[in-house]
Amino acid sequence: MRPSYLIKPALDESYPEIDYGKGIYLFDQAGKRYLDASSGAVTANIGHGVPEIILAMHEQSKRVSFVYRSQFTSEPAEKLAEKLADLLPGDLNWSFFVNSGSEATETALKIAIQYWQEKGIKSKTKILSRWVSYHGITLGALSMSGHPGRRARFVPLLEEFPTISPPYCYRCPYQKSAPECGFLCAIELETAIKRIGADHIAAFIAEPVIGAAGGAISPPEDYYKTIKRICEENHILFIADEVMTGFGRTGPMLAIEHWNTIPDIVALGKGMGAGYAPIAATVVSDHVMEPILKGSKVIISGHTLSANPQSCAAALAVLEYLDNHQILKEVESKSVYLKNKLDRLKTQFPFIGEVRGKGLLFGLEFVQFPAAKIPFDPSVKLTELVVRTGRDHGILLYPAGAGLDGLSGDAVIIAPPLTVTKREIDELIALLQTTFIEVYKTLGVPLEN
Ligand code: PMP
Repeated sequence: MRPSYLIKPALDESYPEIDYGKGIYLFDQAGKRYLDASSGAVTANIGHGVPEIILAMHEQSKRVSFVYRSQFTSEPAEKLAEKLADLLPGDLNWSFFVNSGSEATETALKIAIQYWQEKGIKSKTKILSRWVSYHGITLGALSMSGHPGRRARFVPLLEEFPTISPPYCYRCPYQKSAPECGFLCAIELETAIKRIGADHIAAFIAEPVIGAAGGAISPPEDYYKTIKRICEENHILFIADEVMTGFGRTGPMLAIEHWNTIPDIVALGKGMGAGYAPIAATVVSDHVMEPILKGSKVIISGHTLSANPQSCAAALAVLEYLDNHQILKEVESKSVYLKNKLDRLKTQFPFIGEVRGKGLLFGLEFVQFPAAKIPFDPSVKLTELVVRTGRDHGILLYPAGAGLDGLSGDAVIIAPPLTVTKREIDELIALLQTTFIEVYKTLGVPLEN
C-alpha cells in the first residue's frame, strides 16, 4: 500500500494536489482552477498568495522564528497583543496565543474555571453550550460541542456539559417566530441554570453565528442581549467563540458586536492567521484577569508553539492588510450583493430551504420538500454530493450541518475571502448554478416546491 498522510477526511478518496493560490483562486497540479468560495474552512480571509504577509513572515524568520514562551517574549507577540486590545471591544485586553481554534476554546474553558477558583469558588466547573454548535475537536472543546457526528465515537470520554436550544429560527424548537417568541431559546439558559444551580456553572459558550454545525445560523435581534443579561444576573461568564466569525468575517472585528454585546472571554482563530500561519488566541477581559493577577498569577495552559514569533508576525501583517486596504468597511455592501444573488438562486433551485448568515458568512440549508422543510434522507448524503460536484466544477464549498435527526442536516457555507470583488461574486454564483444543475441531474428526482 502506498503510504499517505492521514488527515484527509475520506481515506479512500483521492484529493487533487494544489500547486499554488492567488487571490480567491487555487490551482492544482493539473492546472485546474478552483474558486475558493469558502476560504478553505472560512480561514483564507484575505485570499491566497498575498505578498505582504509572506514578506512579513520572511522578515521575522530572518530575525528569529521560534522562542519558547516561558523563556522569552518577542516583539511581534507583544505588538499583536497590544493591537488586539486596541481593536476588540470593552476591556478584552489580555491575549493568550495558541495554534488552533480548538486550543483557543479549550483555553477559554480552563480560564473560566480558574477565574472562579481564584475567587474561592471551586464548584463552578460546568460549561453550558447549545445543542447545535462546534467549538473544536480536542476533548474539552468537543465536550462543549453539539455536533453528534464528531462526538459519537468519543462520548464516553467527554464531560457531560448541559446544552440549550440554538437560535435556529428556520426550525424553531418552539415553532414560534421572533421577536414574538420572547426569545424562548435564550430564556432556556435561565431555566437550565435554575435546574443545575449557578454555583456549578462557570460559563456559557456560543458561536455568535453558528458555523460548522449549523451552516451560518444567525440569531434574531436581542437574542444576545437576553443571553448576556441572564449570564450577568446568575454570575456566569459569557465566552464568545469567534474562531470562525472573528477578524472581520461578518464586518466588525467580532461578530458579537452586531448585537452590542461584550463577552468576558473570546476565542479567535482561522482568519487570524488567514491560513498563512497557525495562530489562534483566547482573549480575556480585565475583570476576568483581575483575580488571576491577584491570585496565582499564572495560567496553567499553553503549548510549545504558543506565541510563535513568525505566526504572530503573520497575524500582525493580516491586521495591517485589513487596515491598509480598508477591507472590513466593504464587507456589508458585498454581503448585500451576495445575499441578493443567493436569494435569487433559491427561487431557481427549490432545494435551497434557507439562505442565512451575516457579513460574508452565508449558509444554504437544503431540503427535499421546501414547503414542509423536510430534509433529504441522510442516505442521499446531499451535502457531500453538493460539495463534491462543486469541486468537480471548480468551486469550493464548506460542508456544514450536524445532522441531528435531520435538523440542520444538510447545509453548505459560502464564505469567500473578504477581498472578493463583485465581479468575482458573479462568477461564484454562476459556478454555484452549474453545480446545482448537475446535482439535480444526479438526484434524478423532481424537487417539489
Ligand atoms: N470553534 C469554531 C466556531 C470553529 O468553527 C472551529 C473550526 N471549524 C473551531 C472552534 C476549531 O478550530 P480548529 O479547527 O482550528 O481547531
